[in-house]
Amino acid sequence: MSDIQLKDVLKFEHSFCVLPFIHQHIDTKQRQRVCCHSTTEITPERLIGIQQDMLANLPVPECSTCTKCEQQKQFSFRQTETRDWFRNYPKLCQDAIKNPVVISYDLRYSNNCNLRCQMCDAESSSEWARYIGKEVFQTWDPDSITINPDAKKIYFAGGEPFMIKSFSQVLNRIENTDCEIQVNTNATILTEHLLSALERFRDVTFILSIDGTGSTIEKIRTLCDWNIIQKNIDTLRHRLSPKFMVNTVLQKDNLDNIPELANWIDSKEISIWHAEILTRPEQFYFKNYASKLQWPESLWENACVQKNMQVYKNLKFIESSLAA
Ligand code: SF4
Ligand code: SF4
Repeated sequence: MSDIQLKDVLKFEHSFCVLPFIHQHIDTKQRQRVCCHSTTEITPERLIGIQQDMLANLPVPECSTCTKCEQQKQFSFRQTETRDWFRNYPKLCQDAIKNPVVISYDLRYSNNCNLRCQMCDAESSSEWARYIGKEVFQTWDPDSITINPDAKKIYFAGGEPFMIKSFSQVLNRIENTDCEIQVNTNATILTEHLLSALERFRDVTFILSIDGTGSTIEKIRTLCDWNIIQKNIDTLRHRLSPKFMVNTVLQKDNLDNIPELANWIDSKEISIWHAEILTRPEQFYFKNYASKLQWPESLWENACVQKNMQVYKNLKFIESSLAA
């Protein structure tokens, strides 16, 4: 099998993605999917079929989220993940295409969460489950999967990782302290067990789920407090000297606040910003925004907008769609 040429597979609507060759995603119900952007459970046999279809550039139904995104000429996770992995680990990726090996994990041991974000659900948040009188899931056993000692990246999400004790147990067993650890957090709560477990690792990134500032985030991420979030980010910075990224779900309720959010991100000197356009639940889709969008020209001068092409393109897409 010949090597993958990045410039070819990054073209819109190519079906190749690096993740099925190197990544394992297990959700809160212990189901496996190709990644968190897919909604379809897969078996080990189907994973092999997906890998073969991707190498032949055939459609992969499990990856329809990325396909739809690219059909609208928006950058997809397929493109950004594949680009980043191939840039950081070119040989490892080329080898994995021939012999798939898990070096990246996305583990969601539990849906334990203290918030009830409007775009979330009971499967991902125990607070949502409690609120609508559904079963609050239990944490699954971290011993049920073996982590590759050569893993390059482990991504913890939930639920809220600071509320999930098994994450610290997993971290305490990892000997390779060069492994990149990413924690996707709502930053509303910090717990000593996870803070202590993270202290051993050299490369820790917090992916902050920030959909706006002040009352905007407090409306979208029900039960959160913006002042506590900012205080906790300062604590994380002083205690662990981590990297920070901001993850924003673009939706009708944060469009007015985007300029202020961009200013806040720059003021915190956070250079990586991901902003994806919400597709579900449809009622929060940006096209349901009822006012006239008035983003100042200065928005496009913000460093976090200029440096992150995906954000720039998605914001431009929203602006032109709402103007049409
Ligand atoms: S193509 Fe998209 S949905 Fe499929 S594995 Fe890659 S990132 Fe995930
Ligand atoms: S913080 Fe995350 S898991 Fe919790 S309710 Fe919000 S989106 Fe869902």
